[in-house]
Amino acid sequence: MISHRQKPATPWLLIVLFMIVSASSILLGYFYYKSQKARLVKDKKLELSAIADMKVSQIVQWRNERLGDAILIGENTPFIKLLYEYLHSKDNAVLRSDIRSSLKSVTRSTGYKNALLIDSTGMVREFYPDRDTLMSDHLKQMFPDLLKAETGILTDLQKTRQINYIHLDLVVPLINPWRKDTSVFGLLAIRIDPSEILYPLVQTWPVPGKTTESLLVRQEGNEILYLSELRFMKNSALELTKSLSDEQLTEALAVNGVEETADGVDYKGASVLAAMRKVPGSPWYLVAKVNQSEVFTALNDQMTMIIIIIILFILTIGMLLGILEWNENARFYREKYETELDHQALVKHFDYILKYANDIIFLTDRNLTIIEANDRAFEAYQRERNELIGMNLSKIRAPEAVKDLENESRILDEKGYATYETVHVRKDGTLMPLEISGRKVEIEGVKYFQSICRDITERKLAEETLKESEERFRKIFEESPISIAMTGKDLAIIRANSAFCNMIGYREEELKSLTIRSFTHPDYISGDDVSLLRLVAQEIPVYHTENQYIRKDQSIIWGSATISIIRNNNYEVQYFLVMVEDITLRKKAESELIAAKEKAEESDRLKTAFLHNVSHEIRTPMNAIIGFSALLNEPDTTEEERHQFIDIIFQSGSQLLSIINDIVDIANIESGQVKMNIREMNLNATLRSLGEQFSYKGKSDLISIILDAGLPDERAIINTDATKLIQVLSNLISNATKFTKEGRIDFGYALKDGFLEFFVKDTGIGIPPEHHKKIFERFFQVDNVISRKFGGTGLGLSICKAYVELLGGRIWVSSDPGKGTDFRFTIPYDHTEKSKGKQREKKIPML
Ligand code: ADP
Repeated sequence: MISHRQKPATPWLLIVLFMIVSASSILLGYFYYKSQKARLVKDKKLELSAIADMKVSQIVQWRNERLGDAILIGENTPFIKLLYEYLHSKDNAVLRSDIRSSLKSVTRSTGYKNALLIDSTGMVREFYPDRDTLMSDHLKQMFPDLLKAETGILTDLQKTRQINYIHLDLVVPLINPWRKDTSVFGLLAIRIDPSEILYPLVQTWPVPGKTTESLLVRQEGNEILYLSELRFMKNSALELTKSLSDEQLTEALAVNGVEETADGVDYKGASVLAAMRKVPGSPWYLVAKVNQSEVFTALNDQMTMIIIIIILFILTIGMLLGILEWNENARFYREKYETELDHQALVKHFDYILKYANDIIFLTDRNLTIIEANDRAFEAYQRERNELIGMNLSKIRAPEAVKDLENESRILDEKGYATYETVHVRKDGTLMPLEISGRKVEIEGVKYFQSICRDITERKLAEETLKESEERFRKIFEESPISIAMTGKDLAIIRANSAFCNMIGYREEELKSLTIRSFTHPDYISGDDVSLLRLVAQEIPVYHTENQYIRKDQSIIWGSATISIIRNNNYEVQYFLVMVEDITLRKKAESELIAAKEKAEESDRLKTAFLHNVSHEIRTPMNAIIGFSALLNEPDTTEEERHQFIDIIFQSGSQLLSIINDIVDIANIESGQVKMNIREMNLNATLRSLGEQFSYKGKSDLISIILDAGLPDERAIINTDATKLIQVLSNLISNATKFTKEGRIDFGYALKDGFLEFFVKDTGIGIPPEHHKKIFERFFQVDNVISRKFGGTGLGLSICKAYVELLGGRIWVSSDPGKGTDFRFTIPYDHTEKSKGKQREKKIPML
């Protein structure tokens, strides 16, 4: 992506990161310092507290040891006795020497500097050694009280006029133990130099320290008196005093009863940590302290290191982030440089495009005023540069397209791009349809619209032409009387015209979910597939076929289909165009024609056979008539022979007549000249007579003719054309006798559903089933050869059929070849009085 920034972005992220890391490091250091400090203070306080406790216990022990010494001395009876005696005698040199040696042994103990023997009047009677032998003022002051004491007393630390060093006295009251007198008869004052034991005890510190110090103080009025020698102030013992009301001063706190370890300042004003204790049994307070600066020296050193580390860490992080940012900046400027190079190249390229572009290119401001245009624009609009630049776009729009401008520029502004078609106008007023591709561009922070306009005059013309041609095609397609469908490569129907829909019985919407195969009769599908492959392979230009198709209502139609391919520009198959002509009627006519032709041929064949038969049938009796007629005239013909000949001539004549009758009848039937002559007849009588007649004619014992009349005689009087009925029955019985060698012939009738059903049933040769219909056709004979054997013209049954139908019934046959034949026909049962004597005439229709 090309960056449009002039400067690299402020690395806020890095800055924030840096600040967070720095702040975290400082905070971490701070909390570490705090925790270390707290720990150190706690440890130090514990240490000070322990040292103070130890010191106090040592001082108490020291004091107790001294008082213990006083008790030991006080209870040493011989010694006390000795002192008593000495005090109550006058200058007893022996006693004095004993006493001096005793005092000497007392002062031998460490710290006991001097021992004075004082009598009850306060006079020093004896001492050892010889230095500082006077009673101190302090002791003198206490003397009256001391005389009342019962046990040893340790005085406070003193520095007096008489004794020039700091001391304290262990005073042992001398009581005479054996006199039951508890009054004190004297005092033994043992002077103790605190610098020997007590001060070292106070001052020593168990571990080395620069500012560690423990000291003893006591209250002196409103002040504090420092009792021990101070580490940092020489000659201060019993000299230095401080105000008791100084709340910061640790010694003042101690005297005021604080017994803990706390912060404060010491005598020299330094901040200290101090443990304060009262020394039990004395007016003394012990303070063990250390300067805070010493406590925190190590911590401060450590903290200095930590601060240095933190600063180094922050600097390192800062440096790393700086390097990162520097790299980023370097990359930014490198990219910018490259972008600039690309930009220069692009500008050159763009200038080139602008100059030579085939399309019109505009740059307009947001008010749609043209601020730049390429050469092609000046040429296309037939305007000079200074004329076009500064012109509003609406001025070069065709008037009818101006109204869209506002909407189009709004879309462009909102979406950032837009493509649309419009019409511009040249200077000479001619219109120019354009396709415009607009884009919102930003140049140095200012928004512009850039439009690339393509002249689409030719395309519009082509579109128009295409539209017209499509419309023409659509019209032809839709209105064609020929059924047309357009399918995809898979024969799926895409479009079908109304003729097609009507032909196949589906609506176009239904067809769109079908393929041509869906309604092609299964017998034709595989044939189609092969031919379509050949069509696709361009082996054949179009594919013609005559197929059966199944309509929606399942009826089957014949169609003559022509299938061609519509290919795309790459010559690939795009559609199949299927045109189908409904040829069902033609196919039907064709099949009827074929049937008619076959029938004509058959009838021709039958006629030929008939002529043969007729000529044979006529010639045979004619020959007999002519031959025997000639013989009649022969003189030597006997009477018997003549009778025989006449008989033959008569029979032949009858036969001839019957043939001629048949021919005449059929001719009448064909010409529609047959008339019906309905009259009353006695059916049973007629049938009986027929039976007799044929029995006589048959003259054969091998065949019996049996009548079965279905009605009693009184009900067997019917109205019908008796001649025709008799002719039908005669024909059938005659055929039965003709085709039956032996057995029986049953004939008769029965009344069924208002009809009389006649039957003529024989046990003859029978008729094959395939001929059961044909035998009623004219001239048909089952087998010409056989028929020749039996004689006949093939007219009898067709006459029967015509007559039965004329009489209002029908005729049919059932037969089992080799077993016999059963002819049956019906006529209406009409025996009402009304029909009596009535005559009906009806013409037989042409067969
Ligand atoms: P034809 O004068 O030849 O008998 P018909 O029309 O009476 O003519 O009969 C046609 C044909 O029907 C006969 O040639 C014969 O082959 C067959 N036919 C008719 N009646 C019988 C029957 N009762 N038994 C067997 N075949 C018969």
